[in-house]
Amino acid sequence: MLGSAGSSKPNFCFDSQHRKIEHPVYSADEVKVLSKIHTKDRVVFITIDDGVTVSDDLAKFIDHNQLQITTFALAGELWRNRDWFTQRSNMTFENHTNTHAHMTLIKPEQQIYEICRASQVIRNVTGERPVFFRPPGGSWNEDVRESVGRSGIKYLLMWNVQIYRGSTSMSGRKSLSPGDIVLLHYTPSLKSDLKILLTKMKQAGLRPALLRDYLD
Ligand SMILES: [Zn+2]
Repeated sequence: MLGSAGSSKPNFCFDSQHRKIEHPVYSADEVKVLSKIHTKDRVVFITIDDGVTVSDDLAKFIDHNQLQITTFALAGELWRNRDWFTQRSNMTFENHTNTHAHMTLIKPEQQIYEICRASQVIRNVTGERPVFFRPPGGSWNEDVRESVGRSGIKYLLMWNVQIYRGSTSMSGRKSLSPGDIVLLHYTPSLKSDLKILLTKMKQAGLRPALLRDYLD
């Protein structure tokens, strides 16, 4: 089924019965690569990857602080911890591949499978399609960008601040700025990493916001 105009190009995601899934398709040029959001609002975007380690204690902390979080969980981890994840309000679920594949080392058809399979699991667990893709290790090139668009996603989400096991990297800056995208991971140290972040946010007068509220 080859369409002619705009978003009616062939679909590349299939469901488990090998039926085509209807979704928009974007060209590589239309896929935006973002590591920061341009906004004057006093907000930062908390993004947390992989989804391996979750706990009741972490849930309490997130809920108590009403943290708005964009989660990039791997398909298998999202499924395994689906009860924990779907109990969190103020959380959206985005695409981080099916198996944490290093996207620049695999073929385009494998790239598309990684993204489509993860989108399918996210839809099954949450009822919603992801709208953002984050490549494992931040590894992407033009082929990856094209595969992202063909899989129905038009934002490739990087980051400009990272907090990992107590250490913060923010490209030489001393304080957070509006629109920063902060990368964290679901590790046993996540709660203390979030505390570090909340302190920095407070110092800079910033609050958390959801990427979906700033990008359509
Ligand atoms: Zn990852």
